[in-house]
Amino acid sequence: MKIVVLNNCVKMPILGYGVYQIAAYYECKRCVLDAIDVGYRSIDTAAAYQNEEAVGAAIIESGVDRKEIFLTSKLWISHVGYEATKKAVEESLNKLQTDYLDLYLIHQPFGDVHGSWRAMEKLYHDGTLKAIGVSNFHPDRVMDLIVNNEVVPAVNQIETHPFYQRYEDQRFLEENDVQHESWAPFAEGKNNTFSNELLVSIGEKYNKSAAQIVLRWLIQRGVVVIPKTVHKERIKENIEVFDFELSDGDMESIQSLDTSKSQFFSHRDPEIIQWFSERIEN
Ligand code: NAP
Repeated sequence: MKIVVLNNCVKMPILGYGVYQIAAYYECKRCVLDAIDVGYRSIDTAAAYQNEEAVGAAIIESGVDRKEIFLTSKLWISHVGYEATKKAVEESLNKLQTDYLDLYLIHQPFGDVHGSWRAMEKLYHDGTLKAIGVSNFHPDRVMDLIVNNEVVPAVNQIETHPFYQRYEDQRFLEENDVQHESWAPFAEGKNNTFSNELLVSIGEKYNKSAAQIVLRWLIQRGVVVIPKTVHKERIKENIEVFDFELSDGDMESIQSLDTSKSQFFSHRDPEIIQWFSERIEN
């Protein structure tokens, strides 16, 4: 497995397994066991996914040493702020049955994220969180966090796929030594990702599926990917992307699919910010 080295020297697999929208306990546990079985060593969960117990149980049942697994979880908006964040990390650790996280992210860029960040810095310094980062932060919010705090985020996990390619965000993140991580590499199948004519035709040249072309394209850009699927054959398909290389021409032609717009919602939309903020408890 190819790895990326984060700004604090922590090593992270460039491909992991995402468990969003796999809330049922036994289903999620089975999926994570399947992923570990076929060779994934990075799992991306979040308090908001309500499946941390299943993820933790699967890691233990797999028999793979905890140190071999790169485990990410995220702070939900209901727990922003210094004290609430410390409590939220403790809850995640309990549910995941572990005493540390490889990466912990602020899930949404709203509310008292500076208070959260300072709590995360403390937990980072005491070794509970091996790396800390953010998610869904546009460059302005990343810069605000960088200039007003001590630890530079190791990762920014943002919507990135062929229809929202985010080359400019990537340039900004690279300039500031923040690793770009993609969520929804397939745009959750929107725009018929898996039967897209261009992606399928590129795939035919390499004997690969459209899904594999998308993941390879992101990996060749140096972007971390965490595809989700509940099907074991697809879990396997999605990791089989290290035995071929896309040509420069194919990499470039995928740029024609960019719409430069989110396929979900904008984190800069005032109505969205209001909706999220109504969920802050403290
Ligand atoms: P995604 O990975 O882009 O797409 C998942 C969808 O693609 C599912 O419907 C899955 O169907 C299908 N699929 C996966 N592999 C396939 C293949 N090889 N062939 C055909 N269909 C395939 O979407 P996502 O789950 O939203 O994003 C990935 C991960 O990113 C999440 O699980 C989560 O960890 C993270 N995420 C983070 C945020 C955030 O705000 N930070 C937001 C969203 C997601 P089946 O399951 O039926 O196979």
